[in-house]
Amino acid sequence: MGISVSDILGALESWMPSGMAQSWDNVGLQVGRPEKQVTSVLVALDLTPAIIDEARGKGANLIITHHPLFFKPLKKLSSDDLVSSMALTLAESGIAHYAIHTNIDAARNGVSFRLAHDLGLSDVEFLTSMEGSVVKLVVFVPIEANDLVRDTILAAGAGQIGRYSDCSFSNGGTGTFKPGDDTDPFIGQAAGPRESVNEVRLEVHVSRWALPRVLRAMTEAHPYEEVAYDIIPVENEYTDAGLGAIGTLASSMKLTDFLDVVSTALENPALRFAGDENATVQKIAVCGGSGSDFIGAAMKAGADAFVTADVTYHRYFDVMKPDGTFSMALINAGHYETERRTEDLLGDWLSEHFPDIAVYKTALRSGPEKTWVSRRG
Ligand SMILES: [Zn+2]
Repeated sequence: MGISVSDILGALESWMPSGMAQSWDNVGLQVGRPEKQVTSVLVALDLTPAIIDEARGKGANLIITHHPLFFKPLKKLSSDDLVSSMALTLAESGIAHYAIHTNIDAARNGVSFRLAHDLGLSDVEFLTSMEGSVVKLVVFVPIEANDLVRDTILAAGAGQIGRYSDCSFSNGGTGTFKPGDDTDPFIGQAAGPRESVNEVRLEVHVSRWALPRVLRAMTEAHPYEEVAYDIIPVENEYTDAGLGAIGTLASSMKLTDFLDVVSTALENPALRFAGDENATVQKIAVCGGSGSDFIGAAMKAGADAFVTADVTYHRYFDVMKPDGTFSMALINAGHYETERRTEDLLGDWLSEHFPDIAVYKTALRSGPEKTWVSRRG
């Protein structure tokens, strides 16, 4: 049996659930048929005509990129504009395209963790956690089925608290029910008298992206025809996913020396920044790609510097104090440059999990934005 597009997507989804993506995002299969066999995959940050040509040259029939092809609905599929023309070329060439975007941004060891690692940071943690991502699932189980239902929902992804898995709580009590006509009860009989059963109230936290899978597993494992359960919103933050990362340099250094570290590590010869060149930095926040929304979070976390991209002019004033000095340095290190290692992250993971297919990381620079460093010095 060969490997299909859906085999690869299923594996990627269990590593980086698409439900972890931001609501405005458009992750997942952009073009292609899930059942199609895959012989080789090309990984790139962006989809461009040159990347499609590269895939064709290598015989790759699946392209996985970080940035999705589609953000706006198309009215036609023609060669008139870049997005629809690329979609048409993919379809004509029999190449599927899948995007794994803000879900890989939000995961532990995702884009920002990789950036932190590349800048030499240690003790790396999420800069922000995911709000509104946790529910409490309470299910009432006859005592003899408790172990089975608990083990099943935990295996399906319930019960994750921070870096601890298999977290659950059970206590016993009495449940009652009266089977109606046309029922097939586990205990008692249709249209029978009210039953009284020793049940367990089993409770777990579930992330919203694991919830559909957990509910499916729960109803399959539970012996009752009609499972009694509650999904309760809670205000807890999901702490094992988030955006941005924060960590520390092995030793403190002058901001200008750190700018050299960033420039070298990210192969970006020119950085824009705000901050005091003579300041000393050690605690560093990062966010691959457009991370201006987390400038406040980085300052609140006590970062000495925040490395991100797409910082617009007025956002630099966010790090300026009333006396004109700076709360922290804000470093604009390039969108492509802060995210390009996603190609390694994805490519290495795919090579490890699918050794029978060829996995190529693009040899091209897919991002169109470049930096000109004057030759006049
Ligand atoms: Zn990006």
